[in-house]
Amino acid sequence: MTGFEDLGLDVTLLKAISDMGWNMPTPIQTEAVPAGLAGRDIFAQAQTGTGKTGTYALIIMGRTESGSKKPTSLVLAPTRELATQVENEIYKLSKYTGHRSISIYGGASIGDQTYGLRKGVDIVVGTPGRLKDMITRGALDLSEITEVVLDEADRMLDMGFADELDFIMDAVPKDRHTLLFSATMAESIKRIAFNRMQDPMEISVSRDEPVSDLVTQYWVPMSRGAKMERLESILTNGCPKTVVFCQTKKMVDTLADEMYQRIKVGTLHGDMPQAKRERTIRSFRNNRFQVLIATDVAARGLDINNIDLVVNFDVPMDSENYLHRIGRTGRAGKEGIAVSFVTKQEEYHIRQYERETGKKILKVRADEIPSAGTMVIEDQVRAPAKAQRQFATVPINESKKPVRPVIATTEDGKKMVVLQINLGRDDGFSKTQISDLVKRVGKLEDVFVGNVGLGRSKSFIEIREDRSDRTMATMSEYRHKKKEVLMEPADKKAKYQEKRHKSYGQY
Ligand code: AMP
Repeated sequence: MTGFEDLGLDVTLLKAISDMGWNMPTPIQTEAVPAGLAGRDIFAQAQTGTGKTGTYALIIMGRTESGSKKPTSLVLAPTRELATQVENEIYKLSKYTGHRSISIYGGASIGDQTYGLRKGVDIVVGTPGRLKDMITRGALDLSEITEVVLDEADRMLDMGFADELDFIMDAVPKDRHTLLFSATMAESIKRIAFNRMQDPMEISVSRDEPVSDLVTQYWVPMSRGAKMERLESILTNGCPKTVVFCQTKKMVDTLADEMYQRIKVGTLHGDMPQAKRERTIRSFRNNRFQVLIATDVAARGLDINNIDLVVNFDVPMDSENYLHRIGRTGRAGKEGIAVSFVTKQEEYHIRQYERETGKKILKVRADEIPSAGTMVIEDQVRAPAKAQRQFATVPINESKKPVRPVIATTEDGKKMVVLQINLGRDDGFSKTQISDLVKRVGKLEDVFVGNVGLGRSKSFIEIREDRSDRTMATMSEYRHKKKEVLMEPADKKAKYQEKRHKSYGQY
């Protein structure tokens, strides 16, 4: 068996890999990392969940020095969510190499992103539209780029970014190393590989097992009109952590409106502002609500490991979306269930997905959806043990209003967001220690961190608004003496402002 230490990686990267808890390289990492480190272009067919991000992150960091004046690596990703996730993974892997990274995407402040670039970064991760914009404005200098990654290249083309891709590929130096990742090997993708890469090594992560064995797939025949009631009965009788997929944004909103009275749900679709989408994903990750209703595009790349159940409220139109949807569960060694609600007209899709996934999608009776954690299989096949567990019950009607971040403004006019963290005096912290912890773990310079209010079990801290999302994401993955740290926008506006410059009392 090949271990990470056999791949030719520097000790700084091996240490970060070990901190991430990755024990063994995934097949694509084993195959691509040594060749990539040696400078070979890579053309890989690999989907989310294969470890592809780690593959190229390790290659580009293994091949570039940190601390460069101008960016040396450029990663293109189709969506803001993916760009953010990729940058987050790079950030974690750069713990000991010191590579500085930034994500650049539409919908967020150009000024902040320009400022971030000007400060100096080694790795730029971005969506094609905003990257082109930044290049045109002269805010992003590509003259020192030696590593280019196209992630989910097929999706970028599907989303209509062909012109932006061409523009960017023309703008990077000819003498560079190129890595391309795509879920499909469509002709249009092969053309990019042919035109833009030098003798690439082709790798296909076996499609034999594109669906994790940890996902049990079911389908339930039902009329369109019965779907809402069925969904509610699944979700309100013991509430698994669930993603419900709908075909349209309108359907997402309609479903959410119907359900919000009885169960706490979040929504994710393309029309929502970026900040709101990020907040929703973070809240879902942190279990502030158990049910996320989403469209395909918005949930692409959603990287949350403890989702119990995926419901296809509408059957997806193609197998790629089907695979992507059900792949949100059954991750990181945890079992999951995928259930599709299927009308008579949609049944042929299920047979197609069975063929393409090479896995049986079991038909279950409509009245036996796992409302109590049990499924009865119509053709007398016993439901696997994993489908029979009882889901933890989450009380309903406890939906909190969405948290509004508290904003303070510093003397130089920069906005600071007040965040709360579940650490305080009882955990042995002083104000300075809270501040130092957030600076250290969040890799924040002093100017980005303001006042701290120390409570017993919870404290407040001011963070520059443009660093707050990332800080919350990073801190929420940190553990203090095995305690899971949770950082989120402060929700006690009145109290906070009242006591801002004093001590913060007992929280
Ligand atoms: P990706 O295919 O890049 O979307 O990665 C899927 C998930 O697997 C992410 O949560 C990664 O952090 C994780 N991952 C990547 N490589 C490994 C590895 N060698 N061992 C364990 N987890 C990994």
